[in-house]
Amino acid sequence: MSDSPKHDRLEARPVGDDSLLFVDDDHFREETVCLVTGGGSGIGRATAVAMAANGVTAVATDVDEDGLAETAALAEDVDADGRVETVVGDLTDDGDIERVVEAAAGHGTLRYLANIAGMQHIDAVEDFPMEQYDRMHDVMLRAPLYLAKRTIPHVRETDDGVGAIGNMASVHGHYVTSDKVGYNVSKFGLRGLTQSIAAEGGDGLRAYSISTGYVKTPLVTDQIPDTAEQRGISVDEVIDDVMLGQSRVKEMMDPVDVANLFVFGFSEHARHLNGGDLLFDGGMTLTYE
Ligand code: NAD
Repeated sequence: MSDSPKHDRLEARPVGDDSLLFVDDDHFREETVCLVTGGGSGIGRATAVAMAANGVTAVATDVDEDGLAETAALAEDVDADGRVETVVGDLTDDGDIERVVEAAAGHGTLRYLANIAGMQHIDAVEDFPMEQYDRMHDVMLRAPLYLAKRTIPHVRETDDGVGAIGNMASVHGHYVTSDKVGYNVSKFGLRGLTQSIAAEGGDGLRAYSISTGYVKTPLVTDQIPDTAEQRGISVDEVIDDVMLGQSRVKEMMDPVDVANLFVFGFSEHARHLNGGDLLFDGGMTLTYE
């Protein structure tokens, strides 16, 4: 029997002063811009608000206009020192990507880019629709490259050349599960892109990736009650056994936990993080029971 969708282990910890990481950094000020994709939901929303809370101007972009409005409202609710600006755009469209980067640069000094937008599709390799594969590749791998390509010149023209590109990978950029070939390939590729940017970054410009296990975003939590129903088990059993069976930490991450990793990754405290991956997966990929 399934539990109610309001199960408290599915409720994300609110983004606010109690949950946000605050970092001292000379570049964390209103004139500095951080472009955040996927900013209309989940991890992207939390990251845009976290960067704004740290004094930066976060420019959140997404195809979801209503979601972006909610992100801007959340930044006001948490009384962020910086602000969230929004720009609607579709990452499968190069013209939109160019417009989004220019919009971000128009709000100040563009130094940071958080590539977060993503999607999932479940099918075996022999059934995987190529159209869906291409779309996932476009959003999760090609767009991050093109956004980086358009952003880097802005970083290079700053007074000190300091900036960073943070890419949202996954445990699926380290190991794979079945029926997720589009996702697996995109996330492995995103780590390759991260290292490629790091190789060319030089003084000041860094790249890093973040790999997490399950995070409480609508993408994940919406499916859990249905999975419980389908399998005839409880929501707790789905979380503990199906999703976190390989994890030593038996709770999913909150979006704000991931947002805090982006805040750290962009900060000067992470100046030696270049090409590296922040693997925060509760022991999922590197331990074995
Ligand atoms: P989400 O569905 O809450 O947010 C994804 C956002 O991407 C949505 O707002 C969506 O509108 C946007 N998007 C999708 N296609 C787009 C397009 N063509 N143009 C512009 N925007 C587009 O998902 P989330 O869980 O916050 O995931 C964010 C990222 O984190 C993804 O890359 C995902 O792979 C990664 N990730 C998620 C988890 C998790 O458990 N939730 C774990 C590891 C990695």
